Amino acid sequence: MKHVLQSVAALCLTLLVSLLASAQTPAPPPEDGKLRIICFGAHPDDCELQAGGVGALWAAQGHHVKFVSVTNGDIGHWREAGGPLATRRRKEVEGASRILGTTVEVLDNHDGELMPTLENRQKLIRLIRQWKADLVLSPRAWDYHPDHRNTSLLVQDAAYMVTVPFICPDVPFLKDNPVFMYYTDRFQKPYPSQADVIVNIDPVIDKKLDALAVMESQFLEGGANGNESFMPTSPKDREVKVARVRQGHAARNLATAERFRKELGEWYGQDKAKQVKHAEAFEICEYGRRPSKEELKKLFPFFDGSGGKSR
Ligand SMILES: [Zn+2]
Repeated sequence: MKHVLQSVAALCLTLLVSLLASAQTPAPPPEDGKLRIICFGAHPDDCELQAGGVGALWAAQGHHVKFVSVTNGDIGHWREAGGPLATRRRKEVEGASRILGTTVEVLDNHDGELMPTLENRQKLIRLIRQWKADLVLSPRAWDYHPDHRNTSLLVQDAAYMVTVPFICPDVPFLKDNPVFMYYTDRFQKPYPSQADVIVNIDPVIDKKLDALAVMESQFLEGGANGNESFMPTSPKDREVKVARVRQGHAARNLATAERFRKELGEWYGQDKAKQVKHAEAFEICEYGRRPSKEELKKLFPFFDGSGGKSR
């Protein structure tokens, strides 16, 4: 009898754990013919920094965009850490996603300790399949931060495998390998970022800056490399500091537009390209489906007023 009770208790516990786990993964969107994009970042702010603009543009057209932070960000502050910081940062990205119109999920891996394990690879394979992604975005593998590098490896290792039936057979495999693309970065070795697609984010730059402003632990308070001097000392001081943070973020996207002005011309035409102030750029990963320019225009339906997928 004691054994039976123990087994029942164990079963209840297993069910509870799986219920809690599934509660954290947002339900996949309906199959309504809209685009399905899943973006991976190592920390709760990476996707928002790299794809907040294009995410808002997709969302405004009714496409389904999910930002996944592969770690919980629990050491990303100079004064606080652990569970309370992870909770704070999850709330920050949830606030940002409400502004951008995107969906967000934060995986419970420790910040600074992410490894390209089989378990993590399988987690990402399942997430990409569940979202039935047309397009997957990630960082490149050459980056100062080990979590960024390992996020890139994990996404690269999930590419193609999402189409293989007998890995993670509990989640239906994808018939088509999605298109995989990288965010842009400033690293030069082994080769600098290419802009295979570049998007004018001027129409949503304020929305992106508003979303980033929600992440006070990172940008107002300085994240892991901040200190007491970052903390606002008065409402006026706070205003000044928030304005400085917004300016810094805008400058990154201004620099992207400047750097890839030629590529902007290829997508928007020379005249329009000259007007673009803020941009986000993306590079094709060779391990996903290799898209034609026509397919890229369907995945990024921002260039000629046409909108959405029909594959
Ligand atoms: Zn990061």
